[in-house]
Amino acid sequence: MGQEIYFDNNATTRLLPEVFDAMVPYLTELYGNPSSIHRFGSQVAQKIQEAREQVAALLGASDPVEIVFTSCGTEGDNAAIRGLLEAQPEKRHIVTTRVEHPAVFGLCQHLEKKGYRVSWLGVDSDGILDLNELKDALADDTALVSIMYANNETGVIFPIEAIGQIVKAKGIPFHVDAVQVAGKLPINLRKSVVDLLTVSGHKFHGPKGIGALYSKRDLTFRPFIIGGHQERNRRAGTENVAGIVGMGKAAEMALKHLKEDAGKVRNLRDQLEAFLRESCPECRVNGHRTERLPNTLNVSFKFLEGESILVLLDEYGICASTGSACTAGSVEPSHVLRAMAVPADWLQGAVRFSLSRFNTEKEVRFVSEKMPSIVQRLQGLSALGKLGDKTESQNEEHRMANRIGARR
Ligand code: PLP
Repeated sequence: MGQEIYFDNNATTRLLPEVFDAMVPYLTELYGNPSSIHRFGSQVAQKIQEAREQVAALLGASDPVEIVFTSCGTEGDNAAIRGLLEAQPEKRHIVTTRVEHPAVFGLCQHLEKKGYRVSWLGVDSDGILDLNELKDALADDTALVSIMYANNETGVIFPIEAIGQIVKAKGIPFHVDAVQVAGKLPINLRKSVVDLLTVSGHKFHGPKGIGALYSKRDLTFRPFIIGGHQERNRRAGTENVAGIVGMGKAAEMALKHLKEDAGKVRNLRDQLEAFLRESCPECRVNGHRTERLPNTLNVSFKFLEGESILVLLDEYGICASTGSACTAGSVEPSHVLRAMAVPADWLQGAVRFSLSRFNTEKEVRFVSEKMPSIVQRLQGLSALGKLGDKTESQNEEHRMANRIGARR
């Protein structure tokens, strides 16, 4: 291992050595419980406070007290949505989008089954929301609006402040899933109308198993996990101290390098995109060209299957994804690309390349050189017939042949 070319940074990122070093003492000699009265515990509590300040700085929050540590992005999303519903039991309506990460999408589907009304906002073929549809969806009993800041599959960015103005004009609480944005774009919550915002440590070179939920100071917070008094009664459970310390350090490093990293990564992504457009005629980029995270490239190859492309990329040690990590291994077409009405011929053939500051031009050149032959190899197999001209069972046979061929 160690030879891989990693283009799957929206799934997770490499831990920074500085983050690891910051964590080690809290996994070894400094094992005190931060809730303990003694010095051995209270010095750990102080370190947690430092991490809270580091995360608050990354998010531009006005007060570190607005940061609640959670176990991951999924927990943050659940805590925000469930907490808002519990605080307003008379309100039974939720507004969200058709392109959310499963952490919000799956939860809202679950809540719909439990009797909540959910308005699922659509997107256009570039993945952009229609703000008039949002305005029309808001009702007297809307308990919350939950909209992601940027899409994990396509990188498409939503105009969170403009959305927030519409939502707050009606006095409705507004939650934002910013898991893919923290560390990639500047966030300034001090000047924002956002009430709750979710982030996750492992998406910006911090450890896995730690996240944070920003909760505006004046918001009534209802805890999702109930028990002890940790996190000022907002999230019970003995803290993941090393994780918190690591996330704090990662936040500090991300803030320090944000501008420079975004520029470098955008440049590399654009090089990769330009090369693929030129060398693979039957490819198309999914998602708005400019309203997009600097690190993300989602590209579809006509009649091919994303999974097969991944298998062949993997033979060269290249790691990419077909979409969100949580749907990997499933052959269901992406709900995000479906919502964008990506035509059937292109729907299965999507590959997501997501870069980080650790990627190099040499790696981009390597991937760019390998892609045309991978596509040609699969197109050869695809001579079995074109998807879309066949019945669904024939299409499935064709995909199986594609996958089996790819594994050879
Ligand atoms: N929200 C978005 C937009 C994501 O991309 C992810 C992870 O991919 C999550 C939420 C879930 O985060 P976690 O993996 O920390 O639970």
